[in-house]
Amino acid sequence: PGSFSDPRFDMAYLLALKGAGCDIIRVACPENADFSDLKRFIELSPMPVVADVHYGFRPAIKAIEAGAAAVRINPGNMRRSECEDTLSAAASAGAAIRIGINEGSFKRGSDPVAEIEGYIGIFERKGFYNTVLSVKSHDWRRTVSYNEALSEAFDYPLHIGVTEAGGSIEAAVSNTLALSALLGKGIGDTIRVSMSSSNMEEVVCGCEILRSLGLRKGGIAITACPTCGRKSLDTAAFLKETEDELRIRYGSVPEQVSVAVMGCAVNGPGEASFADVAVSGIGEKIFLYKAGKKVGTTDGKGAKDALFALIDEVLEEKRSQK
Ligand code: SF4
Repeated sequence: PGSFSDPRFDMAYLLALKGAGCDIIRVACPENADFSDLKRFIELSPMPVVADVHYGFRPAIKAIEAGAAAVRINPGNMRRSECEDTLSAAASAGAAIRIGINEGSFKRGSDPVAEIEGYIGIFERKGFYNTVLSVKSHDWRRTVSYNEALSEAFDYPLHIGVTEAGGSIEAAVSNTLALSALLGKGIGDTIRVSMSSSNMEEVVCGCEILRSLGLRKGGIAITACPTCGRKSLDTAAFLKETEDELRIRYGSVPEQVSVAVMGCAVNGPGEASFADVAVSGIGEKIFLYKAGKKVGTTDGKGAKDALFALIDEVLEEKRSQK
């Protein structure tokens, strides 16, 4: 999401990303960075840290020494001897190396599989097999075809995603298309939804894609109506107030909890019957539902706390039934 020295990266921020479902965090490691900060960041992070090194081999070796779980490099930006030194350092530390090349870094029309094959040859001659591969494009169709070719050619794990995918909406659409096509064929081991917006949105979008494909269990699934002239609960305002906290608190719980937020009686009770927990505007009141049954009413001010209390209750029950 940025350099590890980014002041945003405090414990609360990292825990929020983890709570929302982030499993691995990747940070840029510029050559002139202070790598003692990276060591501290790695110690602080509740997720394994992948160091993203673009040029040169020194930052890669420093990142490995700082304790990175993996380092992403483009061996095309290193001399062969530098690549071999990086592999030796990674082998000693037990760190993985991701060979990551983006379409922007190879010639149009050239074959990324042949380029990767050349790098793998260097890695394997050095006896290094703790390797992950990625080839990304900003075009979702080419992202799919590159990864199909990689999967055909190699047995190494693949990290997949559309790169430079744009703002939230463009990135959500192109990543959903690419990741659905690839994951539907069993291609891809880790994902990243690249967005020029926020890390939280990247994480939530990635989790939603996996959940929709049945590849991620647990966490929170939110159903909400768009509202119309009949609404007595403004679902957009309600979600604006609650959604981040819902994601952070429940995005990575092992149990699945479904929540419906509905504007009125037309579809509120119906959707509540499919959800573990629901809030629906009904007349002047907000009705609260658990497993489709009305369990109380509240007003606009009490709705948020009532929803969280009900979710906690449901989670408690699901845990006690295990
Ligand atoms: Fe409109 Fe009610 Fe349907 Fe929401 S549930 S879209 S407010 S009719």
